Amino acid sequence: MIKAVRGTRDLLPPETALWNHVDRVAREVFRVYNFQEIRTPIFESTELFARGVGEETDIVAKEMFTWEDRGRAESDKGQSLTLRPENTAGVVRAYIEHKLWQRGLNKLYYIGPQFRRERPQKGRYRQFFQIGAEVIGPKEAGSESPARDAEILELLATLLDRLGIKNWKLELNSVGSSADRARYNEVLRTALDSVKAKMCADCQRRAETNPLRVLDCKVPEDQPIIESLPRVYDSLGEDSKQHFEAVKNILQSVGVPFEINHRLVRGLDYYTRTAFEFTHGALGAQNAILGGGRYDGLSESLGGPAAPGIGFAIGEDRLVLALQESAAAVQEKPDVYIAPLGAGMNAEAARLARELRRKDVSAELGDESFRLKKSFEAATKAGAKFILIVGENEVKADAFALKNLESGEQVSVPRGELVEKIQPE
Ligand code: AMP
Repeated sequence: MIKAVRGTRDLLPPETALWNHVDRVAREVFRVYNFQEIRTPIFESTELFARGVGEETDIVAKEMFTWEDRGRAESDKGQSLTLRPENTAGVVRAYIEHKLWQRGLNKLYYIGPQFRRERPQKGRYRQFFQIGAEVIGPKEAGSESPARDAEILELLATLLDRLGIKNWKLELNSVGSSADRARYNEVLRTALDSVKAKMCADCQRRAETNPLRVLDCKVPEDQPIIESLPRVYDSLGEDSKQHFEAVKNILQSVGVPFEINHRLVRGLDYYTRTAFEFTHGALGAQNAILGGGRYDGLSESLGGPAAPGIGFAIGEDRLVLALQESAAAVQEKPDVYIAPLGAGMNAEAARLARELRRKDVSAELGDESFRLKKSFEAATKAGAKFILIVGENEVKADAFALKNLESGEQVSVPRGELVEKIQPE
């Protein structure tokens, strides 16, 4: 038997109804915040991610699905391609390629699959889906304003609330400008010099290569040491501090609760200033539903003009896991099951189905070889509200037996009145 590849999975009905529900609510929320959709390719040049996400990150160092793509001719030079592990780099590439700064501030969203070769477990897959957004543009268009950070966070609170996700927690931090970040890295490196020997092997390595990552360590014995390290806030310049205070101020004013997490630094190199995560208790170890932050220098590091930006990516797989709502509750059921009864009735039933579907009635269509009992069973199994019998007598009279499967009431309905009977206003 050929099975789905490790770390990938099929999404089947009725669960897909829940996914569609999430997509619909997300699109609706993006609409009221005036975001528009962008669709970038699923694969890009490997260089984009190496430069955009950062060579030092786990994603680029260990998790990308990369291959050498060769043309058919011997002389064709190969190109290294990669399945996108995230979508921000692709959006910023598109921003540069299509000179989107000419449009001023861009508020873009995407929904689609991403690929990372991670160790599969509950809530962690090798193909997973993200719903994300990016606000990016020239500084003059207001892209750097703390109002944009707060708007994004408030949008996320609205989305989670509308989906009925309870008990989410917003954790917030500022990692400062790239200069602040570099300064903090040095402060940390110095502080770690005297304590790293007592820490886990990973931290000892991180203390050399990327001290900021020490803050992500989960090893229990290391926690008291990490808690005593200098905090990033104390390395922030005056500008970064003011920006952060302004974001917090707006959030308080609109009533979005948050907690400061001094250790939140996020995995990707491109983040500057505001960094955030929404977590949810019911998800266990993989409790981050979404993450994001500001990336003011990303466009420049990809060869574009200065274009401050802020964005987020929601893990849709985890969002669906966290939903209280059951898949059955959002699954669409057919309004009517049309049961052709006897030879030659398939054609009549198909004609009737076509008329009803054109009027937006959802109809399931049986088969003339089914006996009446089997049609009733099929209609009940499909969850239809009504069953409509199409037999020779009905066709002659141009009026059809319509039975309400909930109340048991049965009436004969002329063809022209069927829509109204099945879908009363
Ligand atoms: P990141 O792009 O790493 O900031 O991730 C953003 C969100 O995507 C995370 O908070 C998760 O909810 C989700 N996510 C990341 N990696 C995976 C994965 N391998 N499987 C499922 N969801 C993921």
